[in-house]
Amino acid sequence: MLDVVVIGGGPAGLSAAYKLKQADLRIVVLEAQDRVGGRTLTQPVDVGQGKTEMFDLGGQWVGSSQKHVMDMLRELDLETYPQYTTGTKVMQIGLDNEVRTYSSDIPPLGSLRGLIEFQLFLWRVERMAAQTPIQDPYRSPHAKELDGHTVDTFARKHSHTLAFSKGTDATRISAMFFLAYSNAAGGVMKILEAKKDCAQEARVKGGTQQISQLLAERLGKEVVLLSHPVIRVDQTTENVKVTTENGKTFVARRVIVTAPPNMINKMEFLPPLPPYKKLIYENLPVGHLIKFLVVYEKAFWREKGFSGEVVSNGGNERLPKGVSCGPLSVCFDATTPGGTAAIVGFIAARQGVEWQGKTHEERKTAVLEGLAATLGSEGRDCVSYTEKIWAEEPYVGGCPVVFGVPGTMYAFPHLRLPHDRVHFAGTETSTEWTGFISGAIQSGQRAATEVLKNLRPEMVSEDDLKGTCYDPESLPGDYKTNQRLHSDTYKMLLIVAVIIVFIAVVYAMQL
Ligand SMILES: Cc1cc2nc3c(=O)[nH]c(=O)nc-3n(C[C@H](O)[C@H](O)[C@H](O)COP(=O)(O)OP(=O)(O)OC[C@H]3O[C@@H](n4cnc5c(N)ncnc54)[C@H](O)[C@@H]3O)c2cc1C
Repeated sequence: MLDVVVIGGGPAGLSAAYKLKQADLRIVVLEAQDRVGGRTLTQPVDVGQGKTEMFDLGGQWVGSSQKHVMDMLRELDLETYPQYTTGTKVMQIGLDNEVRTYSSDIPPLGSLRGLIEFQLFLWRVERMAAQTPIQDPYRSPHAKELDGHTVDTFARKHSHTLAFSKGTDATRISAMFFLAYSNAAGGVMKILEAKKDCAQEARVKGGTQQISQLLAERLGKEVVLLSHPVIRVDQTTENVKVTTENGKTFVARRVIVTAPPNMINKMEFLPPLPPYKKLIYENLPVGHLIKFLVVYEKAFWREKGFSGEVVSNGGNERLPKGVSCGPLSVCFDATTPGGTAAIVGFIAARQGVEWQGKTHEERKTAVLEGLAATLGSEGRDCVSYTEKIWAEEPYVGGCPVVFGVPGTMYAFPHLRLPHDRVHFAGTETSTEWTGFISGAIQSGQRAATEVLKNLRPEMVSEDDLKGTCYDPESLPGDYKTNQRLHSDTYKMLLIVAVIIVFIAVVYAMQL
């Protein structure tokens, strides 16, 4: 029998397994796909002259404020290099599809009044985000107001000028989720920017999938089992029995589930998941991103004084039938440390859905047209165009993360809570940099600590338990209340029992 089965071989699952292995536990990692890495994927890309170089088609950037991933990179001897940001940025976000340049942190939005209003709105959002913890967004003083709003309706309430492009899911995402998610990263601007401490600060030499590949290498082939999709987790017996699609069963004392929430929803749990957990899994739509990478002979945008950063509503250059705007949402310079010139970009949210229905050639032509319109006509002449449609990845189903919808955020913290002997990790369950690789690592290490508390209690200190399900401070408010109610009930029962025994003893002595 095993000590622990870890489900999922992405950054969360492998970080959990690595920590458990160091405690000398008998473990296996069951990964559905024929590779590790999950939503990180580093692939060889054609760079011309018959050569290829490795580029990230999934999670890519890291930042120095992302403690967990930076520690892990050090542990694995992986290096980072800064994101190129020198020069002006380009935007195409007005109704007129006009291309403009800017150097400030936020794109200038037309009139001075618009700019002032947007800045005030941003300050309000940063302030409210700081009061909305991902541990339990309902601790926010604005909880009642926020749970009913989407990001779009919330923005309209507080700003007359703000409009979101189809490259965002603003009309679907809960305002409360957005604020809590931003708070977990240290603020909204931290998520959007490429400066120090921000989400797009640096890239990993050789790619981020190496994190999972190196961890899997250290764990060994006999521990990390590929092509083992889990279909059932049964804890109706003495130990937990995990069944895979290929008919194998693994019995363990504890299980850690790290598959993305939209995939957990497809597994069978016996006994079934508790109501709050079930509710939240059924109400977490997954984002939609097509990531593309365009390699060029030279970084022509740098020569023109552009940083390569583009924010776009897609524009309307030569659109094929069936799409309402062009594909570009956001782009960055992706030139390698060795000097291979490249632009990385995203076709996001509704733009992604519309363009997924087009052919590879149609998307390629439209992306190059978009780059020509925003960065210069040289954008049409590329060495290669590579793309990854994440919605088509069978055990991921979309990306970068799932998001909360209005009216259900009270159940969100229950993602993190265990179901008896089954613990849950994955970036969506983290409390620092939720949704990022760093969050995934934090969550895996946290779930491993929860397991150690049960299987190797002597190895776990009070301090280690901070942020786990054994730390009352990290539990959602309603759960804590229930726990307190339970413990109050137990206390009452105990007192009644003592009184009954006392009366019985006194009565017996009188006889
Ligand atoms: C296009 C894109 C861009 C991104 N950009 C960034 C970025 O720049 N920086 C950043 O930090 N993050 C980024 N992310 C997010 C980052 O990649 C994720 O946060 C991270 O990979 C999550 O790790 P995880 O282990 O929680 O989940 P995953 O990486 O999704 O791993 C979960 C694993 O579970 C497996 N699985 C699913 N179902 C089953 C099953 N039934 N049985 C067994 N295994 C199963 C999956 O195959 C997968 O390998 C991006 C993601 C994408 C896709």
